[in-house]
Amino acid sequence: MSVSLDHARDLDRQDPLAGFKRRFALPEGVLYLDGNSLGAQPVAAREAVGETLDQWRDELIKGWNQGWFDAPERLGDRLAPVIGAADGEVVITDNITLNLFKLLGYITGRCGDGRRVVLSEGGNFPTDGYIAQGFCRVSGHAHRFLPEDGELAEHLEGVAVVVLSQVHYRTGRLRDMVATTRLVHAHGAEVIWDLAHSAGALPVDLNGSGVRYAVGCTYKYLNGGPGAPAFLYVRRDHQDGGWQPLSGWHGHAAPFAFEPDYAPAGDITRFRTGTHSALAYRALEASLAMWAEVDMQALRDKSLAMSELFRECLADLLDAHGIEDITPAPAARGSQVSLVDTESGYAIVQALIARGVIGDYREPGLMRFGFTPLYLSFEDVWQAARHFREVVESGAYREPRFQVRAAVT
Ligand SMILES: *Cc1c(COP(=O)(O)O)cnc(C)c1O
Repeated sequence: MSVSLDHARDLDRQDPLAGFKRRFALPEGVLYLDGNSLGAQPVAAREAVGETLDQWRDELIKGWNQGWFDAPERLGDRLAPVIGAADGEVVITDNITLNLFKLLGYITGRCGDGRRVVLSEGGNFPTDGYIAQGFCRVSGHAHRFLPEDGELAEHLEGVAVVVLSQVHYRTGRLRDMVATTRLVHAHGAEVIWDLAHSAGALPVDLNGSGVRYAVGCTYKYLNGGPGAPAFLYVRRDHQDGGWQPLSGWHGHAAPFAFEPDYAPAGDITRFRTGTHSALAYRALEASLAMWAEVDMQALRDKSLAMSELFRECLADLLDAHGIEDITPAPAARGSQVSLVDTESGYAIVQALIARGVIGDYREPGLMRFGFTPLYLSFEDVWQAARHFREVVESGAYREPRFQVRAAVT
């Protein structure tokens, strides 16, 4: 390879984030490049969840008054600095899908009747469009897609709200959050930012970017665990008045007054719905404690250095085998490398997984490799590239067992 293993090891010696790796429980012999789909397990998560199991056993229902009930707001405040938000602006609850529905209802309830369109980003992660379509069926709004290569400014006529991903889940393209937010607001519309592939992947500055609404998940780069609850952000000055449409009892101004009529809580709590999993919050809490120590600029620098190292190691091979590298330029990139081979992409990813190199595959033809600076070393990246090279050069991916499709890819 054009880059030596010694060089990768040199980079590891200079890495200010190197100490985080041992705080993750990674299986032996696995090179995990899929933290963009499900983050690895923080060592502290096992003990935290174990303590909560004990608490359930010993304290029974009293546990709700011992940190379970207010976990959505408490953990929201913990996450806030990681995404450039302030205390009281973030609540951890439900999943992205439900949080989008709630925000669509809340925002359209606040804006004038002249705006009847909900705009989704064509080519975005499907649930973002699906839920907007479902919302429009009950609200009577019209739903439209922004064409994948469309100019946003030309599609904002009559739009109440547009949903955009800061980092695109397929290509890894990073949108200019400041300029885009300004553009949407200048057209009198609102934007909900989806941070699924940016929170924990790079520095995000919601307050500094003029953002009013955002959602994101905690089970990808934030390592909250499988099915960990998502987050929802509303800027402080947009939390006044209004309902969100999933008006459940935990979002009520007085949930234990058991009043017949709904009255929304006056703050971010209104975006809660009903009873949540105390166990899931504890696993996430263990991870968020670690995020409080992370220098986000160092994270960004390492992320880009790793994705560049991977690309550099493979450049000649990709050329020779007609595999297309659609990864955007560093400044316009999230934390992933995206390679396209419509014929063999799926099989190559399966052959890599069989060797313990875990990336993932998205139709059509896309191989995704996520780079998580807290638990990957430069040597890991180098070794993953070596495996990729061997799989492609040897033709090992052509084996029939690598062509079989599983339910989750
Ligand atoms: C992963 C992801 C989701 C997941 O939504 P859930 O409701 O949490 O399952 C949504 N949007 C984007 C852009 C994603 O990448």
